[in-house]
Amino acid sequence: MPELVVNNLAKEYATRGEPLVVLRDVSLELSAGENVAILGPSGCGKSTLLHILGTLDEPTSGSATLQDQNPFELNEPQLAEFRNRNIGFIFQDHHLLPQLSVLENVLVPALADGSPSQEEIDRARELIERVGLSDRSDHRPAELSGGEKQRVAAARALIHKPVLLLADEPTGSLDRTNAQAMTKLLLDLQKQEKTMLMVVTHSMELASQMNKRLELGDGRLAAK
Ligand code: ADP
Ligand code: MG
Repeated sequence: MPELVVNNLAKEYATRGEPLVVLRDVSLELSAGENVAILGPSGCGKSTLLHILGTLDEPTSGSATLQDQNPFELNEPQLAEFRNRNIGFIFQDHHLLPQLSVLENVLVPALADGSPSQEEIDRARELIERVGLSDRSDHRPAELSGGEKQRVAAARALIHKPVLLLADEPTGSLDRTNAQAMTKLLLDLQKQEKTMLMVVTHSMELASQMNKRLELGDGRLAAK
């Protein structure tokens, strides 16, 4: 049973002239436990697609449902709650908050509804252990390597056991050794958490380890 169902999604950006059509007709399905790589040249709309599926942006037309719920029908507070509970997002440049420790950064999504519960703190510590950073819990991002920062971002994305984990070029700013470690970590975490995983990547090494590979071109997805 597919848990993510995307139908005829289109996205255009308003410009001073003709609208810029980035996504023309994107459809895809992903089932629980599945992972998929999205490939394609720079500027083809990969981040746009991921942001829409992550409910950080809205499509111009078409639909996307996660576990039968269409997030674009929700009002703003409901949408924020939906995103916080169901979606984990890993950005290319980690987006960690510089003034917070590793533990606090992992707990950031838990701050949306007040202070973190003991359960969330325990979960954060467990995730930090699983990404191999227990001895770095009190470090600030500036005191971590690039690979370590990305591992913190992965732990943060998983704090609420998301249904869908989205990663936008998660190894894009890492060297080969760290990129390989991050790839393995992402796939291990996905298996343990039984979440769906969609990764935008330029790395065939990463893409080749995924269940499915789709290429975005001319605003459409094709099997690769
Ligand atoms: P990719 O992630 O594949 O490199 P993006 O999704 O970031 O591509 O961008 C796709 C295209 O849409 C690019 O040409 C980009 O300039 C344009 N674009 C992205 N965001 C906006 C925006 N907010 N307004 C207008 N154009 C945008
Ligand atoms: Mg991008």
